[in-house]
Amino acid sequence: ASEDKKEHVQEFKLDPDSELRFEVESKGEKVFLILKAGFAEVFGTELVKGKQYEFTAGAKIAVFSWQGCTVELKGKTDVSYVARETPMVIYCNCHAALEDMRCDAEKENKRGPIAMLVGPCDVGKSTVCRILLNYAVRMGRRPLFVDLDVGQGQISVPGTIGALLIERPASLDEGFSQEAPLVYNFGHKTPQLNSTLFNMLFTQLANSVKEKIETNKKTKASGVIINTCGWVKGEGYKHLIQAAKAFEVDVILVLDQERLYNELVRDMPNFIKVVFLPKSGGVVERSQSARAESRDQRIREYFYGTPKNSAYPHSFDIKWSEIKIFKIGGPALPDSCLPLGMKAEDHLTKVVALTPNPGMLHHLLAVSYATKEDEELILSHVAGFVCVTNIDTERQILTLLSPQPKPLPNNLLVLSELQFMDSH
Ligand code: ADP
Repeated sequence: ASEDKKEHVQEFKLDPDSELRFEVESKGEKVFLILKAGFAEVFGTELVKGKQYEFTAGAKIAVFSWQGCTVELKGKTDVSYVARETPMVIYCNCHAALEDMRCDAEKENKRGPIAMLVGPCDVGKSTVCRILLNYAVRMGRRPLFVDLDVGQGQISVPGTIGALLIERPASLDEGFSQEAPLVYNFGHKTPQLNSTLFNMLFTQLANSVKEKIETNKKTKASGVIINTCGWVKGEGYKHLIQAAKAFEVDVILVLDQERLYNELVRDMPNFIKVVFLPKSGGVVERSQSARAESRDQRIREYFYGTPKNSAYPHSFDIKWSEIKIFKIGGPALPDSCLPLGMKAEDHLTKVVALTPNPGMLHHLLAVSYATKEDEELILSHVAGFVCVTNIDTERQILTLLSPQPKPLPNNLLVLSELQFMDSH
């Protein structure tokens, strides 16, 4: 056994400007990372020398060093190698350019840079956002992070878009601290499923972000970093253009795809800088099932926390009469069946009242801040999410899993397409 253990301790010496990449694949496996000497960072978060960092299944990590370092990995990794070619210098220059804009903004009490990351799936958009935000916060900035990636978002649960004020670097295992994020419920895993609603929501989020940025001088100068989803063709491309307008972006960073870069250069007004960035060779492509797995993991963490920081959700019964459940978007009808003057798209943003039914089992419900049962239910941000774990049709009672104890902050709930099987 001791032999076995020895085998699983690896030491790596990194030259300046190189990175150690590793992946943990097997379920239940744990890998520990320790910085022995020198300086190193993981996606822009500095490592503390001697501290043991833990990674579990699904982790795909790069330990980068500007100055050179020695690190140790304990445990079974599925992949581990040192890469000398990385785009980190380019990302760092990108940060420096944003930082210049922040300095100018600060002097003139103007708004700092609003930068949007775009590109197809699996090119490292979220990772570059994280690096840029970490570098900004390490320089004493307080930027806003906006996430429009409804499928693999980093704020709240999947199926949402939102904004988060970044006040400290991301922790290696838990990402950015989720204090008081501003969250809107979209309710689907991909924007394709309701383009009209998606458009309405990010426009609403953009308005809230513009207001928010004016209330805090430090954040105003720090600006905003916006992550987007990998849908960059057809309607998806239109969304990017509309989002750029809605958020009044100054800079668009295009990862990896030259075609997309050229389209944006062609279609964007001249005052918006469009910059091409290469993707890192370390970015790992994820399969459909890996994406589903990571969505599931995010929802589990929403209720139960992380291994290091576990949370204890509440489970309680609620009478059907105590709440009202809605869904956004009625069934799509062909034009010939619609009342005169109504367009098929109108159905996509229809607020439909629902009676609790067995089909809701395992679904997430957004707890809305809306006060009226109309369009407000679409455009209000949400307090959080509960999950339906049982439906008793006879007694007309729902059992909910909730991060907060009873009572719910509001009795108006909106059904999400996303589901979670509580296996605890
Ligand atoms: P996108 O947002 O474009 O879908 P991500 O930023 O989520 O892509 O990156 C995909 C995966 O690749 C993530 O699991 C991330 O941790 C991993 N990754 C990113 N950069 C590197 C790198 N340099 N080395 C190893 N893994 C990386």
